[in-house]
Amino acid sequence: MRNLVSLAGALALAVALVACSGGREKPKSSYEDRRLPPVACTRDPREFAEAEKIRDFDNGRGCGVRNAWRLTSVNGVRLSQPTIMNCAVANTFAQWIDQTLQPAAERRFGERVTELTVPAGYACRTRNNVRGARLSEHAHGNAIDVAGFRLEGGDYITVQQGWFASRSTRKFLKTVQDEACGQFTTVLGPAEANHKDHFHFDLQRHRSGGAYCR
Ligand SMILES: [Zn+2]
Repeated sequence: MRNLVSLAGALALAVALVACSGGREKPKSSYEDRRLPPVACTRDPREFAEAEKIRDFDNGRGCGVRNAWRLTSVNGVRLSQPTIMNCAVANTFAQWIDQTLQPAAERRFGERVTELTVPAGYACRTRNNVRGARLSEHAHGNAIDVAGFRLEGGDYITVQQGWFASRSTRKFLKTVQDEACGQFTTVLGPAEANHKDHFHFDLQRHRSGGAYCR
């Protein structure tokens, strides 16, 4: 019986891995030449999101997404626009929504978040849009930005204004940013010059092996 259970577990895992990696489709060779790290995918995003697997792509200019998904909602929270991200970001984002965002909203406002304003997931651009700078993690679908939070009662909190608003709003924003650090490996917010109006979360592998949060 025990063997049967572990066999079933292994099969489920295998199915999940295949589903997560987008089936048997082989990436194009040009794609394999790129230095993108493989993308960890613990859960198939369809388990927790309105999500559609899209074909991995490479635009030939360094931008592209491996293990690419297009998400329209996560754990029941609508995204302001369909957003492309890799599977690892989808998983971490779902974890942050469940374990950090919703508990913080319930604690501070007694309400849950129903929609997130997401200005960017995948975007082929350099860091902070500076010409000649390194490509942003957004260029690999390895990042997501959040600029606003709609609560179920209709209230809307933005990162830009909420940062200077009532104590509970400030505490809420601080909590959701601070707790993202460690779930994501890079977390940036209004304390940093280029992120006055949104949080930036990504899964870049830093040389230190740790997280960079500001
Ligand atoms: Zn960003």
